[in-house]
Amino acid sequence: MGPPERPISTWVGGEAQLTLVCDGVRCMGRRDFTDATAEAVEKLGLSFRLALMELDVAVREPVQPHTYYRALEGRVRGPLLVFTTRLLVSEWAITRPWGLAQPQIGAAVVDVGALSREAGLRGVLGRQAPLDRLRQRLAKVVAHELGHLVGLTHCRKAECCMALASSLQNLDRRGLSPCRECTGRIRAYARTCP
Ligand SMILES: [Zn+2]
Ligand SMILES: [Zn+2]
Repeated sequence: MGPPERPISTWVGGEAQLTLVCDGVRCMGRRDFTDATAEAVEKLGLSFRLALMELDVAVREPVQPHTYYRALEGRVRGPLLVFTTRLLVSEWAITRPWGLAQPQIGAAVVDVGALSREAGLRGVLGRQAPLDRLRQRLAKVVAHELGHLVGLTHCRKAECCMALASSLQNLDRRGLSPCRECTGRIRAYARTCP
């Protein structure tokens, strides 16, 4: 499999919605999101047609992938990847997920807000992380969630992009590429695609 032909086909939403503001500072532009996604797609060796969506202007319900998918019904073909700064689960959850995927509908959400902070004491989110680290984390989480969308489950190899990362430190240590076994599963998935 070569590089993806058209890794990103549609950016849903207007240009005005495409800059992420973290703590009042413009920290990421459209380029950062598309670059991180393209990098993840390439590492998975997939040829994805992806719809990307940023922010949750149109959606005010609890953040779950199906919420976005429903809001975009008819406008999205193929996998949907949503970047958000909202909590994906209740604040009271023990761990905050960096992303959530729903393979049944082909949609995943990535929580950029959580990724943009440094890990503080006792799991509390700390100060703003540098932009290059945020981009790396974003690519890793995108690779992980896309892996779920093509049917991968969690992997025990700590360096594999499909390993569970329960903390930002774990995420920073995790690799961006799938391990050999997971790569084999992705290839098997690709063979079943038309
Ligand atoms: Zn996962
Ligand atoms: Zn693996």
